[in-house]
Amino acid sequence: MNKENVNIPFVSFRPMEKELGEELRAAFDRVLERSWYIGGTEGKTFEESFSKYCGRKYCVGVGNGLDAIVLALKALGITCGDEVLVPSNTYIATALAVTYVGARPVFVEPDIRTFNMNPSLIEQAITDKTKAIIPVHLYGQPCEMNEIMRIADKYGLKVVEDCAQAHGATYQGRKVGTFGDVACFSFYPGKNLGALGDAGAIVTDNEEMADIIRTLGNYGSDYKYHHIRKGQNTRLDELQAAFLSVKLPHLDRMNEERRRIAYCYTEGIRNDKVKTPYVIPDCSPVWHIYAVRCDERDALEMHLRDNGIVTNKHYPIPMHLQECYKDLQIPEGSLPIAEEISRTELSLPMYYGLSDREVRYIIDTINAF
Ligand SMILES: *Cc1c(COP(=O)(O)O)cnc(C)c1O
Repeated sequence: MNKENVNIPFVSFRPMEKELGEELRAAFDRVLERSWYIGGTEGKTFEESFSKYCGRKYCVGVGNGLDAIVLALKALGITCGDEVLVPSNTYIATALAVTYVGARPVFVEPDIRTFNMNPSLIEQAITDKTKAIIPVHLYGQPCEMNEIMRIADKYGLKVVEDCAQAHGATYQGRKVGTFGDVACFSFYPGKNLGALGDAGAIVTDNEEMADIIRTLGNYGSDYKYHHIRKGQNTRLDELQAAFLSVKLPHLDRMNEERRRIAYCYTEGIRNDKVKTPYVIPDCSPVWHIYAVRCDERDALEMHLRDNGIVTNKHYPIPMHLQECYKDLQIPEGSLPIAEEISRTELSLPMYYGLSDREVRYIIDTINAF
């Protein structure tokens, strides 16, 4: 490939749209024809197929991934004065959900090799106020769930899995989202399973939890104009559900493509300055993000951009140093691993339809850095 006319975006929906556009339009027509937009058969159908896909009994569709975590915490009774353990390196939604229910997010540092919550640092973060842990299967790599569940059991903590980046990932042959009390998903367009707008879902095996979550997301209503809880409005609409039903049957195949791209990156990148991600044994990540680390990250980013390759950072400012979390009073230097990741992490292009030639070109460009 000639660098003068290369333009590789960080993410593109075009290949997916080309393949599924016709089916997506048919889904739109179906909903329009039925003239029913909230709380209908499309939502129910998708919930059934997604719970089946995840291997859980119940699925409740909601408006987005953040709301999914908020409702899960509310349903578990997490409230003011409680503490919830969250990774210090994640998208801010995980911590914000804890804040929204009035509880305090307590950050646990990741293992720098996996970017995920380090189980050996969990116990020292537990106090008598700790009620729950939210492991985030970040970048599509499963957390070490055996260890996390063992600690949660020992201390009587609830576990809410944040699966927003890990639809279909497996740990010891078992899908993420089947370990904790509840699991939360986002279907933001860029996620491995994405809607054509905002959407999310919660899965669980606990019928009572599922019922509480369903009413909480629908104004606390169990039947029309009857309100048993002070709920909120966050529902999966018919149109997004119909689009998701088109895309779900393709999720495994599209994840497999991401795995192939990740494999090429890991095998092909040979540069002492660039560390490729470590995968824990006996797990199968779905590579929402392919994250490398480099001490000269910004120079690498520029070098790639000069060669027509767009990258991204996940995440450039750790949560404890965000303006909005000043009140937690966690000074710079307190969470050195999250801070190091924010300084050194670079996310390479990763999406369904990224071609072999493009992947090869990206690898060669990195190796020439
Ligand atoms: C995307 C994301 C969320 C929030 O999902 P939205 O649908 O954008 O609200 C939560 N947690 C993680 C780890 C995410 O990546």
